[in-house]
Amino acid sequence: MNNSLPENFDTFVDGRKQGFIRAKELKDSGQKMVGMFCGFTPFEIPMAAKAATVMVCGVDEEPIQDAERILPRNLCPLIKSSFGGALNDTCPYFYFSDMIIGETTCDGKKKMYEILGKFKNMYVMHLPNWPQLGKGEPGYELWRDEIIKYKEAVESNLETTITEDDIWEAIRDKNDERRITKEFYSLAKHVPSPFTAMELNNVLTQALFIFDREEMKESIRKVTAEGRERIKRGEFPAKAETPRILITGCPTSGVTDKIFKLIDEVGGSVVALELCTAGRGNETLVDEDTSRDVYDVIAERYLKVGCPVMMYDEQRFKVLDEMIDEYQIDGVIDVVLTACNPFGIESVRVKDFVTNTKHKAFMKIETDYSKSDVEQIRTRLEAFIEMLEDKAASRALATTL
Ligand code: SF4
Ligand code: SF4
Repeated sequence: MNNSLPENFDTFVDGRKQGFIRAKELKDSGQKMVGMFCGFTPFEIPMAAKAATVMVCGVDEEPIQDAERILPRNLCPLIKSSFGGALNDTCPYFYFSDMIIGETTCDGKKKMYEILGKFKNMYVMHLPNWPQLGKGEPGYELWRDEIIKYKEAVESNLETTITEDDIWEAIRDKNDERRITKEFYSLAKHVPSPFTAMELNNVLTQALFIFDREEMKESIRKVTAEGRERIKRGEFPAKAETPRILITGCPTSGVTDKIFKLIDEVGGSVVALELCTAGRGNETLVDEDTSRDVYDVIAERYLKVGCPVMMYDEQRFKVLDEMIDEYQIDGVIDVVLTACNPFGIESVRVKDFVTNTKHKAFMKIETDYSKSDVEQIRTRLEAFIEMLEDKAASRALATTL
């Protein structure tokens, strides 16, 4: 295949940086912006206020040094990078956000928000820590109330009023984006996948920085059409017998080059992401039945985010189970950011599930935002891909018979 990226994929290369200008233009035009950290925070509320949403999770190593002047060093790089970017004003998205929404997920983030709130306009939602909650149960009712309080906080901070009709409109809009995004990444079910790991990852992470929602959806539709064309033309970046990899674990935007770029370079094919930008964020929709209570439908959907910050996190394993089968996975790589307790501890269960229930190969990569372990990870990835080659060849043969 021709390795030069087609124009459609170019839209997503460095989208986060290109978004700086877009964010400034948006603010200059008078539109509000709400910074968010997490897949548990309902996007639909700021969207109903006609505000742009932006992810403020730190992805760069540079701000970490500043963060460590205040925060302990043995904290996950995502927390330190986010905090440092806000502290030294190097993250324009913190600067442009009218308010920042946090949520009580992991301990590191919760405690960091307390300090961040001293110099940024911070609002924190109280998330229950147990997802199996039905209507009427205390945790469920707490979460539903939190969504109402969050709506009121957005209204007062952005000096606007949000009607239930506005929220229903935002629900349809966000669901539409989830369907379009899933349509894109589902093309990687094809054997071989029409996308490289970097293409798949770039589209899923950088689309979030296109703030004009129709432009963002159209850009994703274009790369989906390009993917379909590649399948029709038989132009693939990998072969049917190339080991097919699923990535799970912590948010990976700060370690893109160490994971996605390296897997492309060592000859693997990343075809599925059980991450917030893909499987964790798009497999479940908000119910669009307008005869129901609008806060119930949002509460229900957001308690179904499969993430280890929840105790007895069954949803993550349901999604993993389905994705391993549907994407014909040969090996699973669990990316754990240094000092991340929820993902670090749950990695034991992921390994057991992948190897003993799904009978697939498993590899855990524990890393941070530094460059010091790039070559060590490359060597481990080379060995992992090599180990998978025979199994991948048998899988490819079985599907052609
Ligand atoms: S991994 Fe979990 S805690 Fe982290 S952003 Fe995603 S949903 Fe939130
Ligand atoms: S990667 Fe882990 S420690 Fe870091 S913010 Fe997410 S859940 Fe918390």
